[in-house]
Amino acid sequence: RTSIGEEFGLPQGEVVTEKLVSAIKKLGVYKVFDTSVGADFTTTEEAGEFIEKLRSGRGPCFSSCCPSWVKYIEFNYPEFIPNLCTSRSPQVMLGGLIKTFWAEKEKIDPKNIIVVSIMPCVSKKDEVRREEMKIDGLWPVDYVLTTRELAYFLKKNKIDLKTIEPSEADDPFGRPSGAGVIYGASGGVFESALRTAYFKITGKNLENVAIKELRGQEGIKREEIKIGEKTIKAVVVNGIKNAQKMLEELKKNPKSFDTMEVMACNGGCIGGGGQPVPTNAAIKKKRAASLYEIDDKKEVRLAHENPALKEVYVNYLTS
Ligand code: SF4
Repeated sequence: RTSIGEEFGLPQGEVVTEKLVSAIKKLGVYKVFDTSVGADFTTTEEAGEFIEKLRSGRGPCFSSCCPSWVKYIEFNYPEFIPNLCTSRSPQVMLGGLIKTFWAEKEKIDPKNIIVVSIMPCVSKKDEVRREEMKIDGLWPVDYVLTTRELAYFLKKNKIDLKTIEPSEADDPFGRPSGAGVIYGASGGVFESALRTAYFKITGKNLENVAIKELRGQEGIKREEIKIGEKTIKAVVVNGIKNAQKMLEELKKNPKSFDTMEVMACNGGCIGGGGQPVPTNAAIKKKRAASLYEIDDKKEVRLAHENPALKEVYVNYLTS
């Protein structure tokens, strides 16, 4: 939402979410949902898993929504696979909800639904073909296009993001919380999870939801965060090389930290390989700043308060 505009000559970091909805519909897509709503579900599940790992002493807990990072662990540090969070990434979470909850609600045979994700990298194409992602024999996501590939299709069809009229994404998965939106920037996944973990542990919402210490493009960010009686040692990592350093540290001291977010791309998905080029530190800063601005302005800034979650958990998953 804060990068594709660059492909159409719009200022770096300009937010084009609603223009994108109209443009995608013009390509002939029936419904446009927002992957950040999937992120709200991932956050809520992840926060629960994090707390469980913390209480049972089976930590630390690693983020798992970057498929490049997951592959890196599988190939190079398989002994740490149990530390990876099992919650599905936002695109797979949303695809799964579309082909189960939404298909049932709309009385559509999920076999007749084609889900296309717009993603920041090619790694996400590999993620959706992992066998364990299937639900009742169906892939939650059928195709993945990178940001640049979508821009190519739009241009080919003479659809210009600069001039198109904006429109809103569709219900019930069209309105993400601020926590879901900041997933795209390094530190965003953990910040979102922490907002919800705080609620799950204390029964209260954080007064100041913005955890700015975890933001930015620095290679390794360490922070001690107090939740109730507990102090959480959190690490947020940019780039695989830095992740390797932290895994080596963990081998020497298993209590070194409680949780670690890793994004293979520096700056997080806003700097992904499928994003518009050029991508440099200054451009990534603008893309991230726009995500945080969206979050600041949102009425709902906590994943667990997204009404879509309440609807699915109360009326579907627990029924
Ligand atoms: Fe893809 Fe990079 Fe985001 Fe990982 S951090 S999901 S590799 S864009």
